[in-house]
Amino acid sequence: MRFILLGAPGAGKGTQAEKIAARFNIPKLSTGDILRAEVSSGTELGNKIEAIMNSGAFVSDDIMISLINKRLREKDCAKGFILDGFPRTIPQAEELDKIFDALPQTTGKTYIILLEVDEDDLIKRLSGRYSCKICGTGYHNKYKNTKVKGICDKCGSEEFVYREDDKEEAVKTRLLVYREKVIPLIEYYKKKGVLHKVNGMQKIDDISRNIFEVVKVENNQDFDEYKDQKEKAYV
Ligand code: AMP
Repeated sequence: MRFILLGAPGAGKGTQAEKIAARFNIPKLSTGDILRAEVSSGTELGNKIEAIMNSGAFVSDDIMISLINKRLREKDCAKGFILDGFPRTIPQAEELDKIFDALPQTTGKTYIILLEVDEDDLIKRLSGRYSCKICGTGYHNKYKNTKVKGICDKCGSEEFVYREDDKEEAVKTRLLVYREKVIPLIEYYKKKGVLHKVNGMQKIDDISRNIFEVVKVENNQDFDEYKDQKEKAYV
C-alpha cells in the first residue's frame, strides 16, 4: 500500500506519517528529512539546496523526481511506503505516476490523503516545532511535547533542533509557495476523484483514526492484512 500525504506546511503530515508507518509497518519517506540530511552532511546536493530550503522556496522538480525515483526502488519500499512531502507540484505528480508504473515490485493501492487545517492556525503550529537531533522525531512545544521533559521519547537523546525555515520570513514564503504550487496539485487530484480529505484540526490520534478509516472503507483487505500492527499505533 502507498500513501501520499498532502497538506499545508504545519498541517501535521510528518506526525501522521509516523502514525501510519507504525500502524502498517511501512517506511515513511519524508522528502524534507531526506533533503535536510543532505544539507547537514554537506554533500554536493546539500550545498546546492541549503539556501533554497532555508528561504522556504521549493527545490527543483528535476532534483526531487530523481531523488524519489531512486528512494522508491530501495528494498524497504517493497511492501509499500508513505510519501510525506512529495509530490508538491503537478509535474512531480505526473512523473510519480510514471515511476509507480515502472516500479519493479507490486505495492498495491494508493491512498491520497489531504490534511485540512485552518490557515490561521498554521503559523502557530510552525513556530513551536522542534525535533530530535539524533533520530529526527518531531515534537511541538504546545501540541506534542516529549513525555519526559528534554528527552526524546524514541531514542533518549537530549539534543533537539529547530528548523531554519520555521522562522517567520521563511514561513511566509512557504505559505505563498503552497498556494501557488500545492493548491493546484490538490485540485488535480480532486478532479481525478482520488483525494480523501481528513480534518487535520482534531487531536493527533483522532486524525490517525480517520486516516485508517479511509483504508478500511476503501480496501478492507489492506486493513486486515496489517492488523497485527494495530496495537502499536495507539500506544
Ligand atoms: P518539509 O519538511 O516537507 O516542509 O520540506 C522542507 C523543504 O524541503 C521545503 O520547504 C522545500 O524547500 C523542500 N522540499 C521538500 N519536498 C519538496 C518537494 N516535493 N518539492 C520541492 N521542494 C521540496
